[in-house]
Amino acid sequence: MIIILRADATDEQIEHVLERIERLGLTAHLSRGTYRTVIGIIGDEAKIAVAPLQAIPAVAQVVPVLPPFKLASAEAHPKPSIIEVGHVKFGGGYVGMIAGPCTVESREQMDAIGSAIRDGGANILRGGAFKPRTSPYSFQGLGEDGLKILRDTGNKYGMPVVTEIIDPRHIDLIHEYVDMFQIGARNMQNFVLLTEVGRTTKPILLKRGMSATVKDLLMSAEYILSQGNPNVILCERGIKGFDPETRNLFDVAAVPAVKAISHLPIIVDPSHATGRLDLIPCCALAGVAAGSDGVHIEVHHCPEEALSDGQQSLRPEQYAQLAGQIRDLVTLFDKKISPVGEASQ
Ligand code: PEP
Ligand code: MN
Repeated sequence: MIIILRADATDEQIEHVLERIERLGLTAHLSRGTYRTVIGIIGDEAKIAVAPLQAIPAVAQVVPVLPPFKLASAEAHPKPSIIEVGHVKFGGGYVGMIAGPCTVESREQMDAIGSAIRDGGANILRGGAFKPRTSPYSFQGLGEDGLKILRDTGNKYGMPVVTEIIDPRHIDLIHEYVDMFQIGARNMQNFVLLTEVGRTTKPILLKRGMSATVKDLLMSAEYILSQGNPNVILCERGIKGFDPETRNLFDVAAVPAVKAISHLPIIVDPSHATGRLDLIPCCALAGVAAGSDGVHIEVHHCPEEALSDGQQSLRPEQYAQLAGQIRDLVTLFDKKISPVGEASQ
């Protein structure tokens, strides 16, 4: 950490700052320049909080050298992490293909979609059983019945399954049925939920909050990692913009921006990012071209009857076409897609 002192800092004030640092068991190196004095601190930065140091009158600026997301940072883990969801890999050259409806609606619906996306090129099945809806009057999901259907369909078609968790009280229940927990955009900073899923070892798909910066996203990942669960996959799903032309603003630059500072895999969700069928394929491909470790797409066999997000759900044949293009791009970049698994029922 580097402390830059104000130009008018007195010797007495500088001495005070040095004492504070040394009292914490850290070593301070003082450099007096013509105009400014700076203090370099050697030792464990975690021992010092930045904010209180800024309250000392002589201090102009405190510059941490290491990022506050220690475990998520590239320094902590120089090679990209590969996270396995069942047999499917994400990161380090592997691109995961997550697809499925917004919500689990019925056994027949999941069977039709599961079979089609497996044939179309997906290797992970998604579907919401507990839905975070803006209106309390909207369909809230089938709960445990939905989890059972999701699990059975995943088993039937050889695909690990992922569903959203919205309440820490559901951990044990959902844990029993799924291969990965999804933390949705609305809960990215639900720190109790992050801490609880961090105490499990299941992979976590952590979606970026609508108004969250890349650093906020990594700090939320840190909550999970710091509890001992290293299996975090990040997801760019669009942030709030000012233009109603798209549902959200697809921040494709977040993909390489995360990769520059973190070892965690990051995938894209152009379905929620754009909310528009005509934009989803090109944004999915842009995500892969930007280095995404996976693509998350909502698919429905009959979008006009979907209970949620039908307007942004690709039909199976549209998904298959897109998945083929993604596969070509993945090969071009010398990356791989894990194959679908064996049916287990
Ligand atoms: C979803 O995946 O259906 C969902 C609600 O996503 P998000 O949290 O990104 O809005
Ligand atoms: Mn959805």
